[in-house]
Amino acid sequence: MPSDDSPIDRVNAALPQTQCTKCGYPGCLPYARAMVMDGEAINRCPPGGQEGVRTLARILGREELPLDTDCGKHLPLQRAVIDEEHCIGCTLCIQACPVDAIVGANKFMHTVLADVCTGCDLCVAPCPVDCITMVPAGHDWTAQLAAQARTNYEHRQKRLDVTHHETLSAAARTLANKPVLSATASNEAIKQETIARALARARSRRHGTQS
Ligand code: SF4
Ligand code: SF4
Ligand code: SF4
Repeated sequence: MPSDDSPIDRVNAALPQTQCTKCGYPGCLPYARAMVMDGEAINRCPPGGQEGVRTLARILGREELPLDTDCGKHLPLQRAVIDEEHCIGCTLCIQACPVDAIVGANKFMHTVLADVCTGCDLCVAPCPVDCITMVPAGHDWTAQLAAQARTNYEHRQKRLDVTHHETLSAAARTLANKPVLSATASNEAIKQETIARALARARSRRHGTQS
């Protein structure tokens, strides 16, 4: 995580924080990092528009470029709305939302928290019953909303990191137990072989008695 006054953080702070991934990066911070570290183009953020490109040009001391519309157009802010009658409660939208703007539980209807939604539209495509639509938000994106979205995104990333580490720890525990599991499996194999041999001896004794 960059420090508060690092170049990456200064660039990240100038980005809109919708976390929409339209720049081709999985969030605003990775795009900021790519601009500072790898010289990535400064015109790939549609939510920031031309004004955002100008700000980035100033911070990074680069020439202003026209917004790259291959990444998307600069549109008025939207927000997601779920048609709760048709929602099947699959939770796919919750998993897609980068800022935890959707609440709901498995097999229960889901709802978008309008004041948390960044309008990124990442929840729309995963919905299997197409019950999420984007509608005009009716207000502009502000610096305060961007700061809140950044905090929500960072909380979510931390939570996902913890889950990821827990999964890795579980995998590591399984690997650590592997010799024990292998020994158990091999003991079981020896036991089965011993039983098979004993049965074979019994069969041959019986056969010998009968002959
Ligand atoms: S707002 Fe979207 S396009 Fe702009 S930097 Fe953030 S993730 Fe990328
Ligand atoms: S609810 Fe949908 S549009 Fe709103 S922030 Fe979450 S993923 Fe983006
Ligand atoms: S993805 Fe669609 S159906 Fe699934 S919980 Fe979200 S809104 Fe409901």
